[in-house]
Amino acid sequence: MIEFKNVSMKYKTNGAIALDDVNVRIDDGEFVFIVGASGAGKSSFLNVIMGQEKVDSGIVKVGPYSLTTIKRRELPHLRRRLGIVFQDFRLIPKMSVYDNVAFALRVIGLGEKKITKRVHYVLKLVDLASKSDCLPNQLSQGERQRVAIARALVNNPSIIIADEPTGNLDPILSNDIMSLFDKINALGATVVVVTHDLELVRQFDHRIVTIEEGKIVSDVPARAKRNEDVSFAAPVDADSEEVSE
Ligand code: ADP
Repeated sequence: MIEFKNVSMKYKTNGAIALDDVNVRIDDGEFVFIVGASGAGKSSFLNVIMGQEKVDSGIVKVGPYSLTTIKRRELPHLRRRLGIVFQDFRLIPKMSVYDNVAFALRVIGLGEKKITKRVHYVLKLVDLASKSDCLPNQLSQGERQRVAIARALVNNPSIIIADEPTGNLDPILSNDIMSLFDKINALGATVVVVTHDLELVRQFDHRIVTIEEGKIVSDVPARAKRNEDVSFAAPVDADSEEVSE
């Protein structure tokens, strides 16, 4: 579960307000799109979840961790629960696909036998089993992003966070990548995807949270959920908490 209660955050360097009284709760197993214009605060929202930015006020919980009180030494434990995917893939160019994915498991000292089993499982999941010996520059853009997704999954994290994962991909590949996130969500992971690609968002039936100038200005449940939970569909405004509680 991810929960923000009255969260505000400013960047110290320039005083930019990144999050302004944000209230949101993402339950285990949900798939949520975070949308909004450039500079709206989407990456800041993710940075807070990842423990990379501290908030100025409010409460943030990610799984069992309260990020307002988390100790520096606990951060690696938090991050192990998170699988993170970036727009620019961030693969290590000199390492094979296999090693890029295995790397995260070697860092935590898992035995080679377990690593092999797990890496093969996730590479199969992203449909790249046949490319395990390739270097990243021998892959297409879509394949590179699938390697990055395999790497994010390899630790078996409960939450997958993706920041503009289709930003470098054409519409067809973008759709493939989003379908892969769907599959991962169906396997039980919570998925949070930041994107500004509304056309893509429309093709999938998931909750959509819109951020503008650091505020959540709308929070619309997936179409499939709307009839089940009417109160949840209430517009976000000053009274909405009372409606939904
Ligand atoms: P988005 O991801 O929606 O494009 P961001 O979260 O990156 O938006 O930015 C929110 C606001 O915070 C913007 O005004 C942006 O200029 C500012 N900002 C983002 N990152 C930094 C940073 N590292 N230092 C200072 N200001 C930042």
